[in-house]
Amino acid sequence: MNCRVCGYKNIKEGYFFRCYQDYSVNIYRCPECNSLFSDYDRNIYIKLHNMKDSTYKNHVILAQSISVHFKNCDFDRIYNELGKSYKNRFVMDEIEKLDNRELKILEIGCSDGYLTSFFIAKGYNILGIDVSQDCIDNAKHFFGKKFFKKTEELDNNEKFDVIYHVGTIGCVDNPKEFIEYYADKLNSGGIMFFNAPNVSALYGKWINGTLPPDLTILFDPVKLRCWIDKKYKLKIVVLKKDLKKSLNYLFFNKNKRKFLLKKNKKKNRNLRNIPENLVKNIFFPIVFNIIKNLRIKINIPEEYGILVKLKK
Ligand SMILES: [Zn+2]
Repeated sequence: MNCRVCGYKNIKEGYFFRCYQDYSVNIYRCPECNSLFSDYDRNIYIKLHNMKDSTYKNHVILAQSISVHFKNCDFDRIYNELGKSYKNRFVMDEIEKLDNRELKILEIGCSDGYLTSFFIAKGYNILGIDVSQDCIDNAKHFFGKKFFKKTEELDNNEKFDVIYHVGTIGCVDNPKEFIEYYADKLNSGGIMFFNAPNVSALYGKWINGTLPPDLTILFDPVKLRCWIDKKYKLKIVVLKKDLKKSLNYLFFNKNKRKFLLKKNKKKNRNLRNIPENLVKNIFFPIVFNIIKNLRIKINIPEEYGILVKLKK
């Protein structure tokens, strides 16, 4: 078994992980690059986009909500709504800092086009691409014609000044090839922005967050340098997580949910949500207050996402 990130050839047998009631995978750890990864299912993303009750439907809901502000050219509202996610805020802030509307920008994995729409609204020269035709159709419906399915409709020699991807690197088959392929589409001096899920944020085990088969790789920020080509300049920022988020991660394990079987799903979800909401909204706030007032220090991992700026 080879490491899907750095190619290390001697990966020992992993552990069996039941992500959902009806979906299990093997998880492997690479001793070379510290990544945690599972097998890759190439067809799952289109399936997730098409499934009626998949979390991917939240993307359409977000796009729909953003499209109202888009029609009103209300940049601030688009920014505030999208900026609730640190990954989106990172990309919007970094590109705005460049302060150049002439830049040619590409978003990879644009989903239903909501983040691309911020830059379209602001007059940037941008294209969004995605593997899902449904997403591209939605994006076109909400935000106009700047969207294409994957790279097929892009000119092979077309180069960009800025390329970004959000929540994508942990969902591709081969992250190294993926980065090299798109870095090749950057003009000299061009920049790629992306986020990566941090293996340290999940307590060394894949217990929560986005699970396989959707997200299939968690990365070690310190080891990014060992598999991303050294010819690129990298700036890596590791975000800190707050206590509330850490406790939610530790206590609420999504793997009781069903992934593919829909039988009794509604009933299960309601039953599960009653105690979860009680703990999150009543018990946790009380605990946080006590901890804050008594100034108790709790030793839990604080690392969260990884933000990367790659310069060609
Ligand atoms: Zn590796």
